[in-house]
Amino acid sequence: MAEVLEVHKSEERKFVGGSGQISEKIMARLQDRVKLERPVIRLDQSGEVVIVETLNHEVYQSKFVISAIPPVLTTKIHFNPELPPIRNQLIHRLPMGSVIKCMVYYKEAFWRKMGCCGCMMIEDEDTPIGFTLDDTKPDGSAPAIIGFILSRKASLFANLSKEERSQSNK
Ligand SMILES: Cc1cc2nc3c(=O)[nH]c(=O)nc-3n(C[C@H](O)[C@H](O)[C@H](O)COP(=O)(O)OP(=O)(O)OC[C@H]3O[C@@H](n4cnc5c(N)ncnc54)[C@H](O)[C@@H]3O)c2cc1C
Repeated sequence: MAEVLEVHKSEERKFVGGSGQISEKIMARLQDRVKLERPVIRLDQSGEVVIVETLNHEVYQSKFVISAIPPVLTTKIHFNPELPPIRNQLIHRLPMGSVIKCMVYYKEAFWRKMGCCGCMMIEDEDTPIGFTLDDTKPDGSAPAIIGFILSRKASLFANLSKEERSQSNK
């Protein structure tokens, strides 16, 4: 249940124009100080400054580093000194979750006319979708319901062919 509520929280509001605009606008202000397609492979914090090396062997220096990558990808970076054991244990115990989003578009948001919000909780074990939300655009265009295939069901569906997935929905 905690997982369902978490996803619902992240889906209840929309940014007009998409949330990617935040990164794009920050990048427009920072210009060429933003380096893309250069994954960090080494972080040396043994000296006065932090040395950062990227996969294409560019080396940067800074006073400090803020890392905002998914925790599990930290395992691809060589740290000097090594990360504390307790931090390494945390990384190994934080696997990424699995969710598949399915959008169905309608000619009109008929559920709104019926006084419904489009949110459904489906507890049937044999039903792929666990819950749904109204995914209509903020201006009312493209009426849609979004459904979420969660957790173990998402892992199962990810391994099925398009035909097999379609069959399971019948
Ligand atoms: C299919 C899908 C649909 C989603 N839909 C929604 C939604 O509708 N609403 C919502 O709120 N959330 C949604 N989410 C969740 C949302 O995308 C994440 O919560 C959000 O992107 C997390 O942001 P972040 O900056 O923490 O991490 P990320 O977006 O994962 O960014 C991490 C960045 O670190 C970079 N990176 C990785 N390794 C290195 C390295 N070694 N060196 C340098 N850079 C590195 C990556 O390239 C990436 O750019 C969705 C996620 C998925 C997968």
